[in-house]
Amino acid sequence: MIKNFMIKMIYNIYYTSFILSERFINDHKKKSKIAENFLLFNNKRVLRKIKNKKLEKISILLPHCIQKYDCPYKVTSNIENCKQCGGCKLGDILKLKKEFNVDVKVATGGTLARMYIKDYRPDLLIAVACKRDLVSGIYDAFPFKVYGIFNEIKNSPCINTDVSLIKIREFLEEVRGRK
Ligand code: SF4
Repeated sequence: MIKNFMIKMIYNIYYTSFILSERFINDHKKKSKIAENFLLFNNKRVLRKIKNKKLEKISILLPHCIQKYDCPYKVTSNIENCKQCGGCKLGDILKLKKEFNVDVKVATGGTLARMYIKDYRPDLLIAVACKRDLVSGIYDAFPFKVYGIFNEIKNSPCINTDVSLIKIREFLEEVRGRK
């Protein structure tokens, strides 16, 4: 109980520092460092929590901006609608879904993401998002186990973003005991 309280306090400190940095610090590197440290702290906690645990339901939650901007297929209702054309990483993530028996949800915003977590109730969520969304999403979801991976901005922040498949795969191999 006390341990949980202490951990929540640390989350509070990280989150407050991040919000303040967004407002008052112009140096992009310094802002990023706070978000990266928070993610590191959170992910270590999640790894400790799931150690030696059998996880039935694992989900990957992705932001809609990962999908190629002009792709006509509606993957937000079902990622299986992706035709795996290679235009974006969703086709590869669909393969990971089948290989590792995980659920994948592409969400258009925080409200839908929260609804998905409430309805599906995974044992572990792997969330991909930009720094701001991921930091606030992980903070809001505490003590729920959310392993975070930052997406990569290529040109514009909310269009055609990217994610490291290696990072997702490595983590899935670890939690599915294949490493
Ligand atoms: S891989 Fe191709 S079909 Fe699938 S979401 Fe991306 S652009 Fe659309």
